[in-house]
Amino acid sequence: ATMDIDIVSVFPDYFEVLNLSLLGKAQHKGLVQVEAHDLRNWTHDVHHSVDDTPVGGGAGMVMKPEVWAECLDDLLHLAPVEDASTLEKPETPNEETVLIFPNPSAPLFTQADATELAGKKHLVFGCGRYEGYDARIPEYYRLQGVDVREYSIGDYVLNGGEVAVSAMIEAITRLMPGFMGNHESIVEESYTGENALLEHYQYTKPATWRGLAVPEVLLSGDHGKVDRFRRDEALAKTTRIRPDLIEALDCHALDKKDRKE
Ligand code: SAM
Repeated sequence: ATMDIDIVSVFPDYFEVLNLSLLGKAQHKGLVQVEAHDLRNWTHDVHHSVDDTPVGGGAGMVMKPEVWAECLDDLLHLAPVEDASTLEKPETPNEETVLIFPNPSAPLFTQADATELAGKKHLVFGCGRYEGYDARIPEYYRLQGVDVREYSIGDYVLNGGEVAVSAMIEAITRLMPGFMGNHESIVEESYTGENALLEHYQYTKPATWRGLAVPEVLLSGDHGKVDRFRRDEALAKTTRIRPDLIEALDCHALDKKDRKE
């Protein structure tokens, strides 16, 4: 496969859904290979416990570093290091493999991240549960020279990382060359490209439905006018819904007609 994806979770069955739809097809085509692993397989105690109480007190449980490390050492083919505090973080981490932890208190996962990760050979996702995972887990692998990322998928708290990982995998894999039948459909999307706006509204046939007509210019056959209309609509929509995206735009990307708005 062009990309191998390993997922670690205490609910690996959750990822059965990845065999459906386009991602299922991509796996069939050999484009990507996804494997979900049960974290509890790396435990040694009869209760298969993966969590413990928080040091410093407080509610809930925290995922233990020992179990995670035995699992991740296997998936990343790394030998355990006795004293990681003596390691110096390498300047350039391994470029082919990325270890990703979903985390609501991390930077937001964006389309730009998805685009970058679509070019990697191996992605390993670690799904948190409970109050989250021991902070030394990502730190340890960074010290080992692994490219470790922590991402939030939005400003809300989920019960576990499974939903977040599914969302990230879907966003990443659909950008892989050969995944989509029609490559154009991913080039002209919201959040895509250097000067991304929200996409314009979409319409299909019939031209009038239950008394509602599609904007007339879309029926004109004049591509210049259609493009202009869509661009204006995208600008107006983005200004209204996501003014932060407008502020982030490079003003040189706006053409003269845009600036008049
Ligand atoms: N105590 C954490 C906090 O307040 O930031 C919340 C932990 S949450 C209940 C358990 C796990 O769900 C997290 O470790 C993470 O893997 C996942 N998770 C929850 N919300 C998420 C989000 N918005 N984005 C990414 N992962 C999330």
